[in-house]
Formats: sequence, C-alpha cells, structure tokens
Amino acid sequence: MATAPVLMADQGRTIDPHEEEAFLEAIDRWLERSVIPVVMEHDHADKWPAKLVDEMVELGLFGATIGQEYGGLGLPATTYAKIVMRISSYWMAITGIFNSHLIMAAAIERFGTPEQKAKWLPKLAAGEIRGGLALTEPNAGTDLQAIRSVARKNGDHYVLNGTKTWISNALNGSAFALLAKTDPDANPRYKGMSLFIADKRDGFATGKKFEKLGYKSIDSAELIFEDYVLPADQLIGGVEGQGFFQATGGLELGRINVAARGVGLAEGSLRLATEYAQQRETMGKPISEHQAIQLKIGEMVTRARAARLLTLDAAEAYDRGERCDMEAGMAKYFASEAAVANSQEAMRIYGGYSYSKEYDIERFYRDSMLMCIGEGTNEMQRIIISKQWVKRNPA
Ligand SMILES: Cc1cc2nc3c(=O)[nH]c(=O)nc-3n(C[C@H](O)[C@H](O)[C@H](O)COP(=O)(O)OP(=O)(O)OC[C@H]3O[C@@H](n4cnc5c(N)ncnc54)[C@H](O)[C@@H]3O)c2cc1C
Repeated sequence: MATAPVLMADQGRTIDPHEEEAFLEAIDRWLERSVIPVVMEHDHADKWPAKLVDEMVELGLFGATIGQEYGGLGLPATTYAKIVMRISSYWMAITGIFNSHLIMAAAIERFGTPEQKAKWLPKLAAGEIRGGLALTEPNAGTDLQAIRSVARKNGDHYVLNGTKTWISNALNGSAFALLAKTDPDANPRYKGMSLFIADKRDGFATGKKFEKLGYKSIDSAELIFEDYVLPADQLIGGVEGQGFFQATGGLELGRINVAARGVGLAEGSLRLATEYAQQRETMGKPISEHQAIQLKIGEMVTRARAARLLTLDAAEAYDRGERCDMEAGMAKYFASEAAVANSQEAMRIYGGYSYSKEYDIERFYRDSMLMCIGEGTNEMQRIIISKQWVKRNPA
C-alpha cells in the first residue's frame, strides 16, 4: 500500500492566483517607490538599509514562509520564489536579510517543540526578532560535520564555546539557528550535532564586519561564543543529535531560494543589457542590430528563461510535498551559473561603461558569483544531482 509523503510544516501550501498577483504587484510598487531610488547609494557605501528593513516588516516579508497560525503569510515556495526573483532583478542583496531569517524560522517550525514554536515564531514573523543561520566555521563550510563548536550540558542549560564565520545578519540580527557538537566523539560525526536557538546575551560576541566584493549592505561577520550559557529549552526539538538533519533538512527550500536569486540576477542583467543595446550606437546603428550582440542577447534570454522554469519546477514539486533534492540542486546550479554568465555578457555589451560605478550592471557582476558558493557550492550540487539521478535510474 502506498504511504502518503511526510510533509514538512511548510509543504502542501497553495495560494489563490489573484492573491498571489496582488502580492507581487505590491512588491513591484515597493521596488519602484523605495528600492530602485536608493540601491546604488546603499550598495556603494555598504550601508545597512534600515528604512527598507522597516518596510519589509510592513510587507510581511519576515513572515513570508512562516505559517499563518504564527502570524506569518504562510506562502507556498512558488510564490516566495517569485517574490525573490522580482526583488533580486533589482537588488539581490536585500533578499538575504529576510531569507536566512526565514531559514532559521523554518527550522523551528519544522523541528521545534510546541513551546518553541509558540515562543519564537510570532516574534520572527513580526520581524521583532530578526535572525539567521550560523553553521559555517573557519575550518568547516562544505564539510559541516567538521565543526568544532561544542555545547556541554550542565543541568538546565548548555555552555557553548566556538566561532562561526561568514554569518549573514550577524551584526543586525538578534537570534540565530546555531549548529554545535553536543557529543564531539560521536561516530558517525553527525550523530553528535545539535541545533540551538542562540540569542544575543553574555558570552555571545560579534566580530568585525567583513569587507566583501559584493552582497553589500547586508552584514557578514564572525560570531564568537565564550562560555555562552544557553537555556536547555533552546535546543531545537529538545533532543540532542538531530542538528545535522535539522540544519540540512531545509536545504531543498534554501536551494530554491538561491536559485530564485540567480534568476533575478540573470533577468536583471538581461533587462539592463537589452535597454543599453538599443540606446548605444556604433557604425550608424544601435548595437542591438549587430550580430555579435544579437548572439549574446539570444543566449541570455534563453538562459534566463531556462533558469526561471527550472526554479519554478523545483518549487512546484516542493509545494506538492515531493522529494525534490535533484530538482532544487539543478535549479540552484543552473540559475546561479546563468546569473554569472548573463552579468558577464551584459558587462561586455556595456563595453567600457560597464566598469563605471555610475551604472548598475557592475553590481550584478559583483553579486552573482556568491550564488555559485552559498547554500552548497555548485561543485557539490553537480555531485548531488548525479547521485540522485543514478539512484532514480538503477541499472
Ligand atoms: C557572503 C557570504 C555569506 C554567507 N552566509 C552564511 C550564513 O549566513 N551562514 C552560514 O552558516 N554560512 C554562510 N556562508 C558560508 C558559506 O555557506 C560557505 O562559504 C560555503 O558553504 C562553502 O564553504 P567554504 O567557504 O568553507 O568552502 P570549502 O568547503 O572549503 O570549499 C572550497 C572548495 O572545495 C570544494 N569542495 C569542498 N568539499 C568538496 C567535496 N567533498 N567534493 C568536491 N568539492 C568539494 C568546494 O566546492 C569549493 O570549490 C556565507 C558565505 C559568504 C561568502
């Protein structure tokens, strides 16, 4: 007898198409009114966009994928991906402010105890607490099981020591889903790992903000824990040893989100290049009429479209409650490479002006490469895709 799939708390959601369209139109109006006029100034100064964050709270973005019973919008992955695509086609970096926050919230909604959900999710949905995900350490990124942070239980609390690095929202966020070892000698290693809700208090310090190539205005920094005392009821799910699964269990959705950012960057680069190619003239005609530029635009349109379709395909599978690690991996891999390729081709179409900070295209070029690294590198994606494909096609 076939068994029904086990759904994550945020799977199986649907939305009325008119409601979705109304929400996307509200995002478009916000982009026109508030984001587009200030993006360059903020990006160049690497300035935290405080006013935009307040407006994102009003739009409900900090609760976009949190269930309605906790005050969130409870959006399906498909709608959320479309929102991220639209925003990223103008400024990808600001999606990181609510995206890693929502990954933390998803870990609590899927794996938390009823008390943890009731305590944390309404505040996260309202943007009263803004958070992020603290997995990576100086010696461990791809190989998460190599982390060295240790949380030792002592009565009704844990004492945690360790360092996290490259953490998005480190300075402006107030709580993080933090992965640590509760049994450093466990074999296999993943069985000794636990995920905690780590809020800022004594013993929790932040390092200095990293200077980055792109992904400006969102803060990335180290988190340093020295004899940080954490109440035992902040262990997500209340049972030790589940952390690796809890941290990586959200990766399908995380990959769909990064794919959506890649789509936005690929489509935004295409939009800018299309406008420029019709305005710039050489040899007595717009460069869009030269075959060399037409070949580029033809490839860019196709890549952007394919990236969008792969991403929506993965998001729809996720919303249906299907296992979609291969689909999410393909979307993340293809869309992030499309972002890099389209931004580079747009740079070539802009010629010398692409190198000027007076034009937007250089930001797309700087921002796009991160999509190939975050949420599982593209090297790892291809390995995951291959393994899944072979598993689904036994000889
Ligand atoms: C701007 C920015 C923001 C970030 N935000 C966060 C955040 O909010 N929270 C967080 O926890 N982390 C964050 N990260 C960290 C990010 O997730 C890691 O950088 C990423 O997982 C890669 O890890 P690494 O840098 O240690 O590279 P490594 O793991 O050292 O990999 C180096 C290279 O080796 C390859 N490689 C490694 N292992 C294998 C293997 N088994 N097979 C094949 N190839 C392999 C990789 O693909 C890569 O090409 C952020 C990083 C950046 C740059």
